[in-house]
Amino acid sequence: MKIKTSFILVMAFLMIILVAGCKKAGQPAEVAAQEFQWQIDQFADLRVMRYQVPGFDELPLDQKQLIYYLSEAALCGRDIITDQNYKHNLTIRRTLDAIVEGYKGDRTNPNWENFMVYTKRVWFSNGIHHHSSTDKFIPEFTADYFATLIKESEGVDDDLIAFLQPIIFDPAVDAKKVSQDSSKDLVTHSAVNFYENVTQEEVENYYKSISDKDDLTPIWYGLNSRVVKKNGKVKEEVASIDGLYGPAIEKIIYWLEKAAGVAENDQQKQVIDKLIEYYRTGDLEKFDEYNILWLNDVDSRVDFINGFIEVYSDPMGIKGSWESIVNFKDLAATKRTDTIAANAQWFEDNSPIDPRFKKKEVKGVTAKVITAAMLGGDAYPSTPIGINLPNANWIRKNHGSKSVTLENITYAYDQASLGSGFGEEFSYSEEILERAKKYGSQASNLSTDIHEVLGHGSGQLLPGVVYESLKNYHSPIEEARADLFALYYIMDDKMVELGLLPNLDAAKANYDSSLRNGLMTQLRRIELGKTIEQAHMRDRALIAYWVYDKGKPENVITKEVKDRKTYFVINDYLKLRQLYGELLAEVQRITSEGDYEAARDLVESYGVQIDQELHKEVIERFSKLNMAAYGGFINPIYTPVVENGEIVDIKVEYPTDYVKQMLRYGKDYSFL
Ligand code: ZN
Repeated sequence: MKIKTSFILVMAFLMIILVAGCKKAGQPAEVAAQEFQWQIDQFADLRVMRYQVPGFDELPLDQKQLIYYLSEAALCGRDIITDQNYKHNLTIRRTLDAIVEGYKGDRTNPNWENFMVYTKRVWFSNGIHHHSSTDKFIPEFTADYFATLIKESEGVDDDLIAFLQPIIFDPAVDAKKVSQDSSKDLVTHSAVNFYENVTQEEVENYYKSISDKDDLTPIWYGLNSRVVKKNGKVKEEVASIDGLYGPAIEKIIYWLEKAAGVAENDQQKQVIDKLIEYYRTGDLEKFDEYNILWLNDVDSRVDFINGFIEVYSDPMGIKGSWESIVNFKDLAATKRTDTIAANAQWFEDNSPIDPRFKKKEVKGVTAKVITAAMLGGDAYPSTPIGINLPNANWIRKNHGSKSVTLENITYAYDQASLGSGFGEEFSYSEEILERAKKYGSQASNLSTDIHEVLGHGSGQLLPGVVYESLKNYHSPIEEARADLFALYYIMDDKMVELGLLPNLDAAKANYDSSLRNGLMTQLRRIELGKTIEQAHMRDRALIAYWVYDKGKPENVITKEVKDRKTYFVINDYLKLRQLYGELLAEVQRITSEGDYEAARDLVESYGVQIDQELHKEVIERFSKLNMAAYGGFINPIYTPVVENGEIVDIKVEYPTDYVKQMLRYGKDYSFL
């Protein structure tokens, strides 16, 4: 599971004092944060930033090499995610790349600019559907202009004109990557490339027929495959070196083998070897074995994710999108998550949920703060700020989970957003604004940690209940569960007792920002007239609107209008905490019992619909701030320094050209 940027925008303005003063001892000495160019491009609703990799230069050579090899493996899967997102994405991306490289006509007119915006958006989303809303975005140039570009570009086949025009320009063709509309067939209404020629019912029947209900340690059926119907027969195409995505997987294996050769220790070598075995065979039993080995590798400094992992892009919640993140531990900041993890059992025991749903023994919650060194696949350029894996429930229950917070990424977000005026615009009072400046960042980091380290790992399912019971409502409910765990506990005296917060005013800052985000500010990411679809956004809306609604009789939260601007003001923080606790208990019950109807009612009642007037107002207020709604990152470049045939060092650079990086990736890492 992953956590996306939530309260980060809220922290836009407050980092100078906190960060420069104490928190980030690890920023690279060579480039001061104020002089580093964090944001490098902005278009449509997107902005592209850079992140630094503080501490890389100080790592020993073999760890640098390990990061380098794993980074190459991370980049080799780019085509996989592009193809998974939509079956024509690779053809489209290659056509766009070729035009950018080879168009001989005028590059100074608005048409060309619009073409470049479209191309950058396709790169950003790894396809033609918006990475978050999953709607197909339509170019702001004509099909005729596109035809001209193709004809006047070297090395582009003219036949593509007729083929691509409806795919790119007709809004009705494959309009949605992931359909959430459960009144219709989720599979046939989704353009995502996990299924071909099959219906939702056929997919459900297929997995029913091959899965063993009594298996207490089941593989995640279908995680690394496509389901297709050929000659009337439903079958799976499995990703492996000889199967689906074989040529890309072969390259991934090549770099993983090099990485295994410089592993820090035997445990880590076993992890990498097992992953290679899994990629060679496509056998999901091996993937489970890999996950368990990976969980047990807690001593290594360098770590990575590489595989078919998160299932958000599958309307059925089965198929993993390919991603990779290479990272190493931020030793100083990890002390914070160590404290949380060490107290995991206390949090479980004192949680406000029904005792039947509590874990008697919380196992192996490991947590750390990491420095991301390379982002790949579904994690590039739009990246999570926290991750908790593995996703398989029985592994989590029997072996625990590993939780990470990507602190150099949140730091980059904060830096890039400085001085935007967001806090001034959306804070109801000076007191709230000051509190946010003082504590917002610290509380936000802590809440991400609790979400990942404790939230997802807490609770248990009743026997016989599987996570898939909640189907398309699984993700928002699961994210709400983790968010509520964090919201409930951040206002607990235990935070101060453990030294995680200086006082409960800091928790208030977190309540202010998270509630405001769920009730209004996150709406800026949605087009007018649309509903909320993204799982994390549904989760945040459902929490905020539920507590707003339930707190009405006692005025826990009131809506205030000042100078024709809407604010939601918390009047009773402790009562609000109690409401968070009540909702946590209900969401845990829904999860533990697999109560699909209750999940649907909760999400549909509170997490989907939008107040149109408020939506308009939010968009208008943000438009004055000129901050793109979504952010992503380009990667650093690692270059080996070779002397006498031996690598003696790895240099890291931070490029500033988004277009250049995308074109280079298109050339160097395209294997399908
Ligand atoms: Zn999460």
